[in-house]
Amino acid sequence: MALNLPKLPILFLLLSSMILFPFVEPQALKSPANAFAKTLQNLRGVHKGQKVKGVGTLRSYLQHFGYIANGDSSNDNFDEILESAIKDYQGFHHLRVTGVVDDETIKTLSLPRCGVPDIVTNPNPNPNPRGSTDPENYSFFPGSPRWRKWALTYALLSGATVSTISGNAVRQAMQNALQKWAQVSNFTFTEIGRTPADIVYGFHRGNHGDGYPFDGPGRVLAHAFSPQDGRLHYDADEQWNSNDGSNVDFETVTLHELGHIFGLGHSNVTGAVMFPTYAGLRRFLSQDDIDGIRALYGF
Ligand SMILES: [Zn+2]
Ligand SMILES: [Zn+2]
Repeated sequence: MALNLPKLPILFLLLSSMILFPFVEPQALKSPANAFAKTLQNLRGVHKGQKVKGVGTLRSYLQHFGYIANGDSSNDNFDEILESAIKDYQGFHHLRVTGVVDDETIKTLSLPRCGVPDIVTNPNPNPNPRGSTDPENYSFFPGSPRWRKWALTYALLSGATVSTISGNAVRQAMQNALQKWAQVSNFTFTEIGRTPADIVYGFHRGNHGDGYPFDGPGRVLAHAFSPQDGRLHYDADEQWNSNDGSNVDFETVTLHELGHIFGLGHSNVTGAVMFPTYAGLRRFLSQDDIDGIRALYGF
């Protein structure tokens, strides 16, 4: 599975966000993303050698997304390991590599993004195919898992309802996104009205049974599992809308998550569909995405 991080730090992250801001208005407490944004504001300019409330929360975040092995949220010491993780994060996201929680780092950390880690920690001694200092390109999951057939079925199955986008718009967006990947691969896709199917996509809210709870509005928008799992989940608490650029564009997120479904990890190419942060409409594959899927499947 692509999502293979321990569950506990996510809980710590939520709890510590709540504990740190007991006096903010109730509205802000409802969203862990808002609480995290406030934590980041308090960390402005913080660097190695300091001990500041909220550093542990940042550590948890960086563990969640693959930049640090130990995400102990109770540890507010900004140590060398955390500095190194921040440098890796800054490198991946093309920020100035300062190791300091500076303005542009805070801005990027605050962006909504995919829930799949950027650097998947590989417990076996084989080096990760792409470390943070390697050239810019696509990546695969450890072991490069991929589908062993070209004809895939897909079905919509949600565990939660959403009001901002219709079922028809959801299905149309999925069809459009699948079409983009079909154009650059040998895959064919057939929608079926039942599960099991090869790809099962749908909306879910909070803790939804796979060990990777969603976090309410903002921050994590969706996640998907590596081949040949086929599960693609959207956070039902986002403002999903298939057309309006001011909300989270369902087709853009779908195009990205399908990349994971086919076996692509995150790319550090800013313009790639497989770049981990959400930055508005992006409904077309970049050359990096195309090179990635072609390299994985060998054509
Ligand atoms: Zn992703
Ligand atoms: Zn899920």
